[in-house]
Amino acid sequence: MKKAIVNTAECVACGVCAKTCPRQAITIFHGIYAHVNEDLCIGCKKCEKECPASVIQVVEKEVAS
Ligand code: SF4
Ligand code: SF4
Repeated sequence: MKKAIVNTAECVACGVCAKTCPRQAITIFHGIYAHVNEDLCIGCKKCEKECPASVIQVVEKEVAS
């Protein structure tokens, strides 16, 4: 499964990724950084493309079944 990962230390909490995500998988945690709900993320990479700070990467992840 592909999932989006945010480099939270570099995230500027602009909210672009949250607006872009077709699954509403991203929320801005306490206005500090973007948090991805991996249960909702489908790995579409829209957030990765749109992030102005280039701090989201979509990676292959093991998911516990
Ligand atoms: S678009 Fe990028 S910088 Fe903006 S909130 Fe999302 S991860 Fe952070
Ligand atoms: S990869 Fe797609 S579904 Fe996952 S958080 Fe980014 S925009 Fe949302």
